[in-house]
Amino acid sequence: MTRSALVLGAGMVGVSCALALQKRGFAVTLVDRREPGRETSYGNAGVLAASSIVPLNNPSLYAKIAGYLGNRHPALNLSWRRAFRQPGWLLRFLWEARPSQAKARIAALQALTADTVERHRALMAEAGVSHRLRETGTLKLWRSEAGHDAARAEHDFLKRHGIESQILDRQGISGVEPGLKPIFPAGLFIPCVGSVDSPGAVTAAYAALFAERGGRIEQAAVTSLARHRDGWRANTASGSFEADIAVVALGPWSGDLLKPLGIDPWLDVERGYHRHLAPEAGASLSRTVYDVDGAFYMAPMEQGYRITSGVDLSFRDAPDDHRQIDGVTAAAREAFPLGEVVGETWRGARPTLPDSLPMIGEAPRNPGLWLAFGNQHVGFSTGPITGEIIAALACGEKPPIDPTPFRPGRYIR
Ligand SMILES: Cc1cc2nc3c(=O)[nH]c(=O)nc-3n(C[C@H](O)[C@H](O)[C@H](O)COP(=O)(O)OP(=O)(O)OC[C@H]3O[C@@H](n4cnc5c(N)ncnc54)[C@H](O)[C@@H]3O)c2cc1C
Repeated sequence: MTRSALVLGAGMVGVSCALALQKRGFAVTLVDRREPGRETSYGNAGVLAASSIVPLNNPSLYAKIAGYLGNRHPALNLSWRRAFRQPGWLLRFLWEARPSQAKARIAALQALTADTVERHRALMAEAGVSHRLRETGTLKLWRSEAGHDAARAEHDFLKRHGIESQILDRQGISGVEPGLKPIFPAGLFIPCVGSVDSPGAVTAAYAALFAERGGRIEQAAVTSLARHRDGWRANTASGSFEADIAVVALGPWSGDLLKPLGIDPWLDVERGYHRHLAPEAGASLSRTVYDVDGAFYMAPMEQGYRITSGVDLSFRDAPDDHRQIDGVTAAAREAFPLGEVVGETWRGARPTLPDSLPMIGEAPRNPGLWLAFGNQHVGFSTGPITGEIIAALACGEKPPIDPTPFRPGRYIR
């Protein structure tokens, strides 16, 4: 008998879960209050982050923290209101940065990100959007001479983990990206990293592929989730959807439907912004670049050059605070000839658990309720493997990587 699945949330993670379950014969309904790929999976930098194996809360955070507290560093904006009102998550996030955790955390992230380009390449071919994929690597850049040591240290670290990179000086950088202004004395070129020119369009194309293969997409806001006979029911203002299993892939909103069930996943958010700028005539980049001292990504996108900001640790739904994105826009202009701003400034929220690893697996004490969220800074990259893990576990198959580090039971009791 065909088993049925409800996937709640049509961002990169939910769409990937829907495709993976469908491939295993489930009759899948994908539900989102918006069209697929219009939230966090729309606004990211589109980097297929095969080398992002160190979480933000690694042991070096302790040395940097004093420099962040005055909110003068573009990498981090901390809302003191949030810090005082909800100190628990922040303290646990800091606690998880302790050195004893680093090795296992890095191994888990490397397993999750290692074949992101291969997985997306295959899906993009199936969805007919291969033209959106760039396999041109990424460039990490430093503005001061101290960057030479930092680039060397990162090169050696990546090498120990089997990831190739190339240290560059000023001349080498302009050889790789002649369009950049010569303000960077040191750089690191990482060839295995890929990128796309529109993460929202890629997510939408994967959803269209799911629909083409017979999947059902419903646009509705889910108001609650409940057990129903041997399965699950998602309620909306105008009706409900029922299935044998349910997958919660609501990104930064995942906790909203789980808490009323008595499930607190310890999910919070790291907000971020983007802004598009038109390049000056004749200026172009062939890959994403990350300015370490400026703390921004610059990504060539369909809409223009997308500048993404660092982390804004404010309440998820607090009003925008444009100080960081204004600062990095000015810094980006120093690095590359940029003209006018195109369109509106976008705000999103990276869904993050205190240990910076996603939650992928069945909810304790809730058979048939699967959790797939918390992919923090690498959720666009790691959506497809998250979907494969969920679908394999739901079918009793061996997942593509060891799912133990991502088990919901590490936070949900
Ligand atoms: C500035 C920035 C830059 C980033 N850069 C990168 C990058 O370069 N590479 C990378 O890999 N990752 C990047 N990320 C992270 C990445 O974007 C996220 O981890 C990823 O998009 C999360 O995907 P998701 O499917 O979990 O969530 P989402 O894409 O947010 O999807 C959740 C969906 O749930 C829906 N939803 C919510 N509540 C309800 C409800 N009640 N009923 C129905 N539907 C609902 C929403 O409409 C949404 O479509 C970045 C993030 C930010 C903010």
